[in-house]
Amino acid sequence: MKRVSARQHELFACEEPVATAQELLVAEVALELPVPAPLSYAVPAELAERIGPGVRVLAPVGSRKVCGFVTSVERRITTVPLRSIEKVLDQHAVLTAATLQLGLWVAQHYAAHPGEALAALVPAAVRHHLHGREVTMVEVADAAAAKLWVDASASSPALAARVRMLRMLLQQAKPLPLQELASRARTSPLPAQTLARAGLVRLQRVAVAQDPFALLNPTPDVPPELNEDQAAALHELLPALDAHNYAAFLLRGVTGSGKTEVYLRLLQRTLSAGRAAILLVPEISLTPQTIERLLARLPAVAVLHSHLSDGERSAQWERLRTGAARVVVGPRSAIFAPVQNLGLIILDEEHETTFKQQQAPRYHARDVALARGRIEGCMVLLGSATPSLEAEALVREGRMKRLTLPRRVRGRPLPDVGLVDMRSEKTVGQGGIFSRKLVVAIEQTLRQREQVLLFLNRRGFSTTVVCRMCAWKAMCAHCAIQLTHYRGTARMLCHYCGHESAAPTECPDCHQSTLRFSGFGTERVAAAAEALFPKARIARYDGDALRTRGAPEKLYSDMKTGAVDILIGTQVLAKGFDIPAITLVGVISADTALFVPDFRSAERTFQLLCQVAGRAGRGDQPGRVLVQTTMPEHFAISCASRHDHDAFTERELAARAEHCYPPSGRLLRIVLQSKDPSAASTAAAELAAALRQLPEVAAGRILLDGPAPCPLPVLQGEHRHHLLLRAPDDAQLTALLPSIPRKAARGARIILDRDPVTMM
Ligand code: ADP
Ligand code: ZN
Ligand code: ZN
Repeated sequence: MKRVSARQHELFACEEPVATAQELLVAEVALELPVPAPLSYAVPAELAERIGPGVRVLAPVGSRKVCGFVTSVERRITTVPLRSIEKVLDQHAVLTAATLQLGLWVAQHYAAHPGEALAALVPAAVRHHLHGREVTMVEVADAAAAKLWVDASASSPALAARVRMLRMLLQQAKPLPLQELASRARTSPLPAQTLARAGLVRLQRVAVAQDPFALLNPTPDVPPELNEDQAAALHELLPALDAHNYAAFLLRGVTGSGKTEVYLRLLQRTLSAGRAAILLVPEISLTPQTIERLLARLPAVAVLHSHLSDGERSAQWERLRTGAARVVVGPRSAIFAPVQNLGLIILDEEHETTFKQQQAPRYHARDVALARGRIEGCMVLLGSATPSLEAEALVREGRMKRLTLPRRVRGRPLPDVGLVDMRSEKTVGQGGIFSRKLVVAIEQTLRQREQVLLFLNRRGFSTTVVCRMCAWKAMCAHCAIQLTHYRGTARMLCHYCGHESAAPTECPDCHQSTLRFSGFGTERVAAAAEALFPKARIARYDGDALRTRGAPEKLYSDMKTGAVDILIGTQVLAKGFDIPAITLVGVISADTALFVPDFRSAERTFQLLCQVAGRAGRGDQPGRVLVQTTMPEHFAISCASRHDHDAFTERELAARAEHCYPPSGRLLRIVLQSKDPSAASTAAAELAAALRQLPEVAAGRILLDGPAPCPLPVLQGEHRHHLLLRAPDDAQLTALLPSIPRKAARGARIILDRDPVTMM
């Protein structure tokens, strides 16, 4: 990390001159400010004992006092006058030596300011010492009045924060912790108090359970005997684990091949060697089932997930810091958990895009995991049924070793996948949703008293509402996105910003009853299924439905006891869902993900189809899958239907290499955004002109695309333009970073996203 120049130091810190050359105890402090490097401060004698790397302090900047992380302390002779640290904020360092080093690497690699990046790695609850046993919960007092108020106030900028809060509460339809609501609505808790005075919401102090597992009762389970493939994988993994050195592995195992069993054996071995482990999973698969399975086998597990209260989160963090818990399970942020003596990092479902953080620092947990593995000298294991091309490339470059579990456990076959060509196939019922083939297959499955899963990655009833007379289209007032119609609640919803309004009954422009509701989401699929299979018991799960407390348990028990015949849902059902009696999976449309304008659309489609197919035939009866598509010849779809990951990888890697796209090249996406449409486009044009002057870009070694409006050109009132830099490798991109301007013209906001996972 470079030192700040004397000039910068003058700007930020130096106002209180100290004497001439003298030996001082000096701490480098990464302040929680947009400054590029830590600043030096004198350590007063009375604080010397409590100050060390990873400790947070309060330091003077101009006339303010700002929080920051001490990154190093040393005695040195200095001639520059230094200001003194005012106060030590924590009793214990919140970052370990390793996580401090990791955090500084993250800041540098992802072009974030070090102090801000470090702060983002420590949960707010821990930073603010929130150990309280009570939290304030907010709930809607009168839903009808609240909806009226939201509709009436939606256009007033002064009420925007209150409207966002109330909308979010209405959407959740359950009490939310005030802190969580405020941060999700990107505001302070104040608007909630105003809403409470107006009688629209109720605030309540409630005690919280400190132990998030109080409700779970894991029963100790008997580990199954390993099969040949699992034993072979562990035969390679265990010696590498015992070696206590950095080693990276990719475990590619088809769905239901017993990957989790391999993880459990490695975790147990790590614990019995007295070391700690981190298990990263996508938030969506942090189900009670997963947690119970881990608790049943492992002692001392800490779980971090987004539904913990502040008190719970601090308590988990504290258990990890003190070593009371030595295994942490959590989403991407758990990679920064303060465990000591780390022996193992596992990233399950490593291909999931939720491992990439979408706010600064915009890190990817896969790359951070590999970096932490190197820093701490431990094993890193990536697991997936459908590894990302990035992971496959690491294997090909010899930087990671691949192990495979090619078969399902207990000799169960992979499901047979059939493609239904919707261009030629006759449909049955309304809306062209169900092909005759799929209907026949569903009827057959129901007759055999087995269960059906129908998958569509689109929520709602209609996805497009237009006026046939004047061409008016239902669009979000804040985003360039069509509103989705929900018939059950008669509402229109923006799936991006959550903006909600009443469903129109006539055209708002020409006032005729000429609205056409078209396109279909899961709600319409359920309605069509009810009409086609009147005797079947149908359940629909999508969006937030599975995330409410108790919902997954109810779904599991309904499926297990056979109370549901047909389950309809979105992505939330595609992951880790283990219901033995599902023997038929119907994919209503495989095309939705293919049409997204993103170079990864084929990869996403392939992965999604393999994951969904993985839900079929997990019990004793073999499963089958029917995929409806208008593009059966597309290689992503045909490879998925043959479970042919290698063929898909070969072909897609070649296509990426041709265009210098990852994993062949490395990307830096730069987004410029502003409420003012012309500011965003001017800033983008000016930045592009500046970038073209850079020698690497001028010489064509690094390619520049754009500027162009983003595929989603307006989001939440922000107009967005982007540029894309394509570098042949990581090192060349790193070398370019310092010369990229961080300030955009006309006050536009500039966002640097290295290794982006979305191009929208
Ligand atoms: P994956 O994570 O690869 O999808 P899981 O580890 O969840 O697969 O295993 C699927 C099911 O098979 C689980 O119910 C698990 O308990 C069981 N299982 C795992 N390994 C074995 C084995 N060697 N013998 C029998 N059953 C096993
Ligand atoms: Zn009209
Ligand atoms: Zn919107």
